[in-house]
Amino acid sequence: MPTSEPDRVPGHQAARLAVVDPATGEIFDEVPDQRPDAVDAVVDRAHRAWHGWRADPAARTTALQAAADAVEAADDDLARLLTREQGKPLAESYAEVARTAARLRYFADLTPRTRRITDGRPVHSEIRWRPLGPVAAIVPWNFPLQLAAAKFAPALAAGNTMVLKPSPFTPLATRLLGSVLATALPDDVLTVVTGREPLGARLASHPGFRHVTFTGSVPTGRAVAEASAASLARVTLELGGNDAAVLLDDVEVDRIADRLFWAAFRNCGQVCMAVKRVYVPARLHAEVVEALAQRAKTVAVGSGLDTETRLGPVNNAPQLARVEQVTKQALADGARAAAGGHRLDGPGYFFAPTILTSVPPSSPVVTEEQFGPVLPVLPYRSLDEAVDAANGTGFGLGGSVWATDLDRAEAVADRLECGTAWINHHGELSLAQPFAGVKNSGVGVAGGPWGLYGNLRPFVVHRPQEA
Ligand code: NAD
Repeated sequence: MPTSEPDRVPGHQAARLAVVDPATGEIFDEVPDQRPDAVDAVVDRAHRAWHGWRADPAARTTALQAAADAVEAADDDLARLLTREQGKPLAESYAEVARTAARLRYFADLTPRTRRITDGRPVHSEIRWRPLGPVAAIVPWNFPLQLAAAKFAPALAAGNTMVLKPSPFTPLATRLLGSVLATALPDDVLTVVTGREPLGARLASHPGFRHVTFTGSVPTGRAVAEASAASLARVTLELGGNDAAVLLDDVEVDRIADRLFWAAFRNCGQVCMAVKRVYVPARLHAEVVEALAQRAKTVAVGSGLDTETRLGPVNNAPQLARVEQVTKQALADGARAAAGGHRLDGPGYFFAPTILTSVPPSSPVVTEEQFGPVLPVLPYRSLDEAVDAANGTGFGLGGSVWATDLDRAEAVADRLECGTAWINHHGELSLAQPFAGVKNSGVGVAGGPWGLYGNLRPFVVHRPQEA
């Protein structure tokens, strides 16, 4: 769901972009609002830097390890700024900074494998891997640092340079991250640009990039794919999700309720692969609703800077309006709020953690991505009905099955049309695994060696065995 963008700061000579603290709703800082014509010079520099950066893999490994050290050393400043502009609890910001450093370390040590192919003829082909060139990366506001690292760590490790654009709602921590990384990387290997649209559109269409890698909503992903068609740059799209959790009839509700709740509500539900719908055998429906509602009513909601807080605000005003609108629509469609169902009074973009029951399956809170602290819990009568419903949207990012019998759970997980299916948890990823959505949830593969190869092209040398 594309969101309309924040305001320019009035009364400034050079255009500036205001950054709002979502816990207070007040502007607390600003960044340059760079115009699209600034991109040409940045891409030129990224091209020049590429020639040195691509030449020496060992130097790259050393620089990326040093970059990870620098990120870890700056974790206090990065985490506080991230919480201030994004809203998430401080402990989650520290975890995000740690994951940013971990990605750098993982990819720093990853090298593509040269392969020789022989097929009985007196010749062989050697397949080597080469970087693509400058890469454009565009990311959203829910995990600004971690999602940026998911772009720049593999791209830089592969020998490319990058121009990175954070969301205009969360540019500050990424700008700071850019200056922290600059202490370890050669000039112009990674450049952070900030500003409102059409800055991202210009990056997507610029002929100087050989790869455009985007994380965000499905409609914006389509626009990026169309824009990059002009240069025929490679496109990677990591898009929205509407992940279903399917509970089987042998599930022990008490054992899984905490994990299920946090799989839906972590980062205030603003996670591409959060649980966004729960399907429960009709017999267990009331018990599951009660267990989730009890947690929703008692979880500590507040500013992410407050150490008691487990759930922060929604990140921005347009997203809060969207969450409110899909909830109101569901209630108008006949749903009942077992917990929450409304905005919280007072300053900031807070929405009460919400559990919805009696939701018509056609309501947008079920068929679309709510991306907020609202969870519909739907009863089912047959497993086939549940699997069909889980697979019945245009999304296909993740899904999960919750049960006591793990073999049976795995057989059901195997039927989910998505990129990753979990059993008895949801959303955990290893750095070494591929990450890819199906249907509208994405194009291309990130994560692990696949993420590295996504930033490389094969170069084949074909030669005879003898002169
Ligand atoms: P969004 O699509 O509105 O914006 C994403 C980025 O694109 C921002 O930086 C924005 O400024 C930029 N942008 C906007 N219009 C553009 C255009 N025409 N051309 C190029 N760039 C443009 O998404 P959002 O609201 O910031 O983020 C939430 C969405 O991101 C959700 O749909 C969520 O599921 C998705 N997401 C997906 C993943 C994943 O890995 N699959 C991860 C996190 C978030």
